[in-house]
Amino acid sequence: MTDRSHLPGRRLLLVHAHPDDESINNGATMAKYAAEGAHVTLVTCTLGEEGEVIPAGLAHLAADRDDTLGAHRIGELSAAMAELGVTDHRFLGGPGRYRDSGMMGAPQNERPECFWRADVDEAAAYLVEVIREVRPQVLVTYDPDGGYGHPDHIQAHRVAMRAVELAAEPAFRRDLGDAHTVAKVYWNCVPRSVVEAGFARLRERGEDKLFPGIASPSDVPGVVADEEVTAAIDSSAYAPAKAAAMRAHATQIAVDGPFFALSNDLGQPLLADEYYRLVRGTAAAGREDDLFAGVGA
Ligand SMILES: [Zn+2]
Repeated sequence: MTDRSHLPGRRLLLVHAHPDDESINNGATMAKYAAEGAHVTLVTCTLGEEGEVIPAGLAHLAADRDDTLGAHRIGELSAAMAELGVTDHRFLGGPGRYRDSGMMGAPQNERPECFWRADVDEAAAYLVEVIREVRPQVLVTYDPDGGYGHPDHIQAHRVAMRAVELAAEPAFRRDLGDAHTVAKVYWNCVPRSVVEAGFARLRERGEDKLFPGIASPSDVPGVVADEEVTAAIDSSAYAPAKAAAMRAHATQIAVDGPFFALSNDLGQPLLADEYYRLVRGTAAAGREDDLFAGVGA
């Protein structure tokens, strides 16, 4: 057996599509568990090369100009991880192995090197190697729609779920390490009531003209009926770290107090508390307040 005595007791793995998704969806959760001594691993599947660029001074980075946004976003992600206290962040198959696919229906979806065109089992094998090394009890990713239908988010979901299966299969690729079963898998979500309350706060502040416009709840990924939420992480203590991490993704996110906007310039609430749906493993009674609830040390 491999010596695993060096592994911290609690290990959390997050699988995301682009740099910035982790901070928006899970920044407070990541900061909390890192601060509490858990091993937090982030796997990002693409460099986000097709993102739009918010600061005018960096517009030349965009894919239709210098096409150097991916390299720049590696730096943004590193800065965000420093804000969250997370030291283990990796790109699936290494930086640049899979390219950002662009929005659904965009011509970039057809590029052979884009993540949307990746063979799911081949991509999952890269993640199996990480799972068998880090041996997380808890994995977090998107729902089957990727939260909002972006091809890279859908593919990240498929790859993560497939990797959980394959990592547990002793006969699969013994060269990638000893089989490991992830005890709990969660999908990101946001309860509808929380999103609506957040937008109500933003509309009340509308006269401040923080942003040129206001998004709508349907623009928020992963909104579900409140009763579908199985876990809520009270992250108030980590809200500043989350906001700082989001700010580090300066090409993608404009943060203004408790609100933020993506490149569409539409304001939306910056939600400090983060929510999850357990889809694999046994939930504790009631709504969980700890993703590791019920997991043996
Ligand atoms: Zn994304």
